[in-house]
Parts: sequence; structure tokens; C-alpha cells
Amino acid sequence: MGQVLNQALEANPNHIDSLLSLVDHSIDAEDYQQADEIVQRIFSINPHQPEAWAYKAVMAHLENDLNGEQEYRQIALKHYTDNPKVDHIIGKKLSQKYRFKEGALYQEASLKLSETYKPAQMQLAQDFLRLGKESEGWEMADSIHEKDGYNVTAFNLMQLKTVIDGFTTLRSLDFILRMEPHEADIFGNQVMSLLTEAKATLCDKYDFELNHPIVVEMFPNQSDFGVRTFGMPHNPGFLGVCFGNVITANSPSSAIGHDSNWKAVIWHEFCHVITLHITQNKMPRWLSEGISVFEELEKDPSWGQHMTPDYRQRILRDTMTPIASLSAAFLNASTSQDMQFAYFQSSLVVAYVVEAYGLDALKATLRDLGKGIPINKALSTHTTEVEELDRLFVNWAKERASRLGETLNWDEPDPAIIQGRPIEDLLAAMPNNYYHLTEALAQHVAEEDWQKAQDVAKFLLEAYPDQRGLDGALYQAAVIESALGNADQAYEHLKHLTRIDGDVADAYLRLMEMAMEKQDWEVCRWAAECYLAVNPLLGRAYEMLLMANEGLHDNEAAIEAGKNVVKLNPLDPAKAHYQLARLLQPADLEEARTHVLLALEEAPRYREAQNLLLSIHQLTQPIAPRQEAASETSSPQAQ
Ligand SMILES: [Zn+2]
Repeated sequence: MGQVLNQALEANPNHIDSLLSLVDHSIDAEDYQQADEIVQRIFSINPHQPEAWAYKAVMAHLENDLNGEQEYRQIALKHYTDNPKVDHIIGKKLSQKYRFKEGALYQEASLKLSETYKPAQMQLAQDFLRLGKESEGWEMADSIHEKDGYNVTAFNLMQLKTVIDGFTTLRSLDFILRMEPHEADIFGNQVMSLLTEAKATLCDKYDFELNHPIVVEMFPNQSDFGVRTFGMPHNPGFLGVCFGNVITANSPSSAIGHDSNWKAVIWHEFCHVITLHITQNKMPRWLSEGISVFEELEKDPSWGQHMTPDYRQRILRDTMTPIASLSAAFLNASTSQDMQFAYFQSSLVVAYVVEAYGLDALKATLRDLGKGIPINKALSTHTTEVEELDRLFVNWAKERASRLGETLNWDEPDPAIIQGRPIEDLLAAMPNNYYHLTEALAQHVAEEDWQKAQDVAKFLLEAYPDQRGLDGALYQAAVIESALGNADQAYEHLKHLTRIDGDVADAYLRLMEMAMEKQDWEVCRWAAECYLAVNPLLGRAYEMLLMANEGLHDNEAAIEAGKNVVKLNPLDPAKAHYQLARLLQPADLEEARTHVLLALEEAPRYREAQNLLLSIHQLTQPIAPRQEAASETSSPQAQ
């Protein structure tokens, strides 16, 4: 966008619409100084430009300058007092800054000036939906759609409403959870219990009391997620979004293109609920994301973001964004790696603040933000001057980065040189170069030269043991050891990997199978649970979870798993129902009978099922009074 705007301004430096777009963009990037400079440029062309004054009001609001905000708004309305656009712009920008409550008030003000102003109506409907004021939001969207069937956003929203109306709603005092019915049936309770745990943990940690329910919606269809979240059926790669009182998330079945851990997503999003509430939505994006990623890692070391070779290089090459402008790194990210790095750096800043100044400093910063104190001032008060903080942080981060594979050489070779050249030549020139070693490993594995592959993998892992991902040396080493017949060694590598990586479904599956063969039920249960955090809809994983729980004599957990096995089209439904009946049999005879009958319906000659039915039948028969006992008493109860 920037390039096109610059071209427009080259053609006409006084083109006000282009300049206004630049102001808008600078505000999004939290670069208020630049935004103000462009506003001044607009005033030199037209000192009465209402939109420019509206943007000034937005910036005043964001700086907690409430008098300035009112003053600029009045100037914006000076020559056209009924102009609904002014309040609409101010409100829309505030909503984009997550201040939906304030944003909604401005849309209402805009509609007071012009009841039929559509942009304000549409924005208000979306503000309501994001605030969790659902009935108002849907009503408004419906009335816009009624009056204008060609309003795309209203049309999309009303289509979405029919989808959400078909969802199952799970309720607790703290959450209203909406999910697609089949998914709710399979893992709705797991989502609810994780949310409940997140609330207890994070409210306690951040000394915050949340006393109203939070709406959580999980969408199997990405375009529904897009409409609910962004107002359009498009998702620029988000797994979940939190608006404060409302969380929207992609369900694990939405297949966003790569494996992801839904538990980590839920934890991350709920953490936003806490920080957005404490700050009353007045926080820079980097801090919000930084704390959420940081808290993922606090909860589970396999979640969140970790140092990778790419991040190591970025940090050591001084490509980190200064803290004061870190939010812009999210907006200006041109690749998904840039975006991921923005998340990672933000979480590192949070980790550094907590390590160097304590969690209380972070909490005090959040409380100050809630009072309207700007971020850099709040940070300086509770840590040190932001420039100094930046300097200290960079040193700390570099130290951390350089610890990754310390003994390896990290000179990045030209990929064009690597490709096609015999790997022996490359290694001879630089035997401990990470990239050469990785390339050599891949080549040896592809050629199934397991012995050589094993040597390289061992060397790599000794220098850099926590290599995550399915391309990493840890997983590759498991593959190599399996191929060489060293099952125990492969098993150890897989156990290591699954402890540090939260979304390697293939590794979990492999480990699960191996653990089952060994009847190592503890590991089998662990691997099955890891797998289900990525894909909670695979029946096979519940089958293994059932067996593991049975092996661990955890009957209740085995029953839970068995209930999901029968719901997920098992390959052998008779066996699945029989197994569940067998587990249920001592505690719940009625349900056991139902499942054994279902097993026999599938396979009437299933001998074990027949026997089980007989024994259930015997157990449920009323005990016949013994003859002599009856003769001893004449009470009617004995009959
Ligand atoms: Zn986030």
C-alpha cells in the first residue's frame, strides 16, 4: 500500500486522500509523531480538513488528552456541524485500537447527527458483536441487511449468524462457549476445563477479578472465523483473536495449513482477556502479544515461541525493532516469518522485564496503562528509561541467541552454492557449519545412508540438542535410529522432542505407537494427549488413550476416551462399543448394556459381547428372596 500511496503523492504531493491514508497507517503502526507530521502537512493545504482533525482527536484520545480530543472534534465539525463522518472516523480508529466501548459511543454520536449513515451503523453493529453485546449487534446487522441487501458486510454477518445459531453452546458461570455440535460433543468439555484453568491461573497471577462471562467461539470454517473476527471472509493467518470479552478461534479442524496446538491458542487468547481488562484495552499490541506468548511458555514449555536458527540470526544481526516502535513490527511484517519474529521478540521483552525487574514491575506497568499513562512512561517508571531498557534488552537477547548451538559455525552460505554440490566438499570446507550439517543430514536421509546420517545427527544434536520441528535433527535422528534398528534410541529422541515441541503431530503418533508396543502406558498416554491437543478429532488417538488409561488403571479416564472412540467412526465399531461397555460395566450397568447391545447389533455372534451381556443381565436381575428367609418374615417388603 505504501508504495502506491507514494506514487500518488509523487504525481500530486497535495493529494489529501493519500495523505489521510498515510495518517491512518501511521496511527495503526503506533507512530503518532509521523501521523502528526502528515496531519500538519494536510493543514498546510486545507486547515479545515475535517478528517485530519478527526485523526487529531483520535491521537489525543490515545494520549489520554481528553480536552484535546473534544477540542479537535469540535474543530472538525465547525463548518459542517452535522457531518457524521467525523465521529465515525474517530470511533472506527478507536475500535481498531481495541477500544470498542469508546468506539461504539462515537458511532452512536455519529448516528445522532445522521440516523441513516451506513458506515456508522455497520461499525456499531460490529463493535457490539466484539463487545459481547450480541443481541444488539445482530439486531443492528439484520436491520442494515433488511434495508440494503447489497451491503456485503451485513450480508456476511447474517450468513454467519445462521452458522452460529447451529452451534452447540456450553455454559459455565465464567464462559459461554460456542462450537460446532460434533466438535463440542468430542472436545467441548476439554475446552471448557482449559478455559476454567486459564482463568483461575491467570486471574490469580495478575491479581485480577473477572466477574462476567467471556464468550468463546471456535469455527471449523475459516471464512466464518474471518467474518466474525474481521468482518470479511478472509483470514490473514490468525489462529485466534481476543477482543476483551469475546474470543474467536479457528477450531483444529479448520486446517489452517499447518499443525497448531489448540490448547496453546486458547491459553494465549485468554491471557489477552486478562491484560486487555487490566489496561481497559489501552495497551500497545506488542505488549499484549508479548505477555500472551510469555504465558503460553509459562504454562507449558512446548507451547509459545522458542529461539530458532532464524531468530538467532535476526537477533545477532541487530534486526530487532526498538521497543518503542515494536508494535509497528506487526504491521510492517512482510512475511509470515517477520510476523512470527515480532511475536517472539515481544515475548522476549516481556521475559526480560520479568527476569530483570520482576513480575510486579510488569503488573504495575499494566495498571498504569489502564490509568491512561502512555506505555513508554509506564515502562520507565517500573523498569528504566526506555532507551536504556532497549540497550539492556538487546544485550540480554543477544546473549540468549548466542547460546543456541554455541559450538557451531553460523555463517549462512549462499543456497545456490549449497544446492547440487557434493555435501562432502561443503563439509570439508566448514565441518561445523550448521547449514552445511543440516543439508548433509537431509541428503543422507534422502539417500537412506543411515550410518552417515547418524554421525551427522549426533554431531548436530550434541551442539544444539533442542531442535524442534519435523525437519529438525531430533526428529530426523529418531527416523535414522529406527531405520538402523535402534528402537530404544529412537524412542528417547521422540520423548525428548515431544516434551519441547507443542505441534509435531507425526512425532506424537509415532511415539504413541511405539509406547503402545512397549506397553509403556505413561508415555503412551502422554503422547496421545499431545496428539489430541493438535488434532482432537482422530479416533485412533482416543483408542490409544483408552488403552493407556486402562493400563494405568485409570478407569474413569479410559471411559472418557472410549466415549469418543465410539463417536468417531471407529474401524471396528463392535469392538469399540464392547470395550466401552466392559469399562462401564461395574459402575454404570445401564449404559454398559446399551453399548454391549450396540456391539451385538454390529456383530451378533461376538462371543465376548454375548458373555458380557449375560453377566450384565445377571447383575441387573433383582435378587430373588431366599425361601427360608421369606418364611422367617411376613413383612410385605420381602415379597
Ligand atoms: Zn495474540
